[in-house]
Amino acid sequence: MTHDFATRAIHSGQTPDPTTGAVIPPIYQSSTFVQDGIGGFRNGYEYARGGNPTRTSLETLVADLEGATHGLSFSSGLAGEDALLRGILTPGSRIVMGNDVYGGTHRLVNRLFVPWGVSLQTVEMTDLDAVRAAVTSDTTVLWVETPSNPLMKVSDIAALAEIGHAVGATVVVDNTFATPYLQNPLQFGADVVVHSATKYLGGHSDVLGGAVVTSDDEIAEKTRFVQFAAGAVPGPMDAWLTTRGIKTLAVRVEKHSSNALALAEALVGHPKIERVYYPGLADHPGHELAARQMRAFGGMLSVKVAGGASAARQLVESTEVFLLAESLGGIESLISYPSEMTHASVRGTELEVPDDIVRLSVGIEGVDDLVGDILQALEK
Ligand code: PLP
Repeated sequence: MTHDFATRAIHSGQTPDPTTGAVIPPIYQSSTFVQDGIGGFRNGYEYARGGNPTRTSLETLVADLEGATHGLSFSSGLAGEDALLRGILTPGSRIVMGNDVYGGTHRLVNRLFVPWGVSLQTVEMTDLDAVRAAVTSDTTVLWVETPSNPLMKVSDIAALAEIGHAVGATVVVDNTFATPYLQNPLQFGADVVVHSATKYLGGHSDVLGGAVVTSDDEIAEKTRFVQFAAGAVPGPMDAWLTTRGIKTLAVRVEKHSSNALALAEALVGHPKIERVYYPGLADHPGHELAARQMRAFGGMLSVKVAGGASAARQLVESTEVFLLAESLGGIESLISYPSEMTHASVRGTELEVPDDIVRLSVGIEGVDDLVGDILQALEK
């Protein structure tokens, strides 16, 4: 029987402990596992860089939630991206990625993979003709982030998968903003999904983590080899915290989404806001696509502040409930100034974020408190 997402988020990979009956499987805080004679491993566990039962629980869970056969977890989102790319790229490979992906993803490729001999091209992912032109027969990877960070552009995963596959490229989707609750890219033809589990999966701003999921055996094997050989794995406590966070993903993301929609609607037409970027608004260019591709519109939104950089800085420094901090996807609302915070590393590149953009990670607090907080901050 196939269960609902919310049921799988709570039960998948979470068998009660057979020895004690503990409903919550214990945290296996062990770096090594006894052998019954040389090579006599119990359940395949040998040394924790290769595998640990707490990590297996998390990996089983994220694979199930994305409808994949393989799940791999990492010590951060970027560690997962790095392992995947080291697994599937070689010097001479070419990667095409969206022109407003997370700055750290661009930095990883531009500063570590390009010097290694990989070529990188960025492209407007919402323009399918531009992508068709950019994706040539020597393209190894097409990297899509949707919705994108921070401008909330929505890209057509099914169409992009078709374009990528026509030249034999591996199509990767960063599903961090949407979460597997709102969007399952593999269902639309993508080959691999990556997550910063630090964000909505963990959900409480108390743990770093990453995940790579795929149903492609070869990609999984190559990525697992890098995971084992280089070792950027989560410790048992971090894997357990992420698993615990995921159990409430469905209810959290529903509330994040309804709060964000209410806030976006309250800000449209405000004299100090020039533009609201939220795919849930009917006039967002990706609205219809998002409605087809996503279950709801998520908890992230950005605004273009009237009055330029100084007004934007004033806004982020004037909130009381929204905390000024990097990151996103936690239960508490955060406000950030991408051009000098999350996207500082891409200043001077094509990915530079305008200095009048403010990004909001809308939490699950009372919606009136959140709307009231932004409105009072705009008065200052
Ligand atoms: N992908 C997206 C969309 C992100 O926002 C981030 C981090 O902000 C990452 C990947 C990288 O994740 P981590 O910070 O866990 O390494």
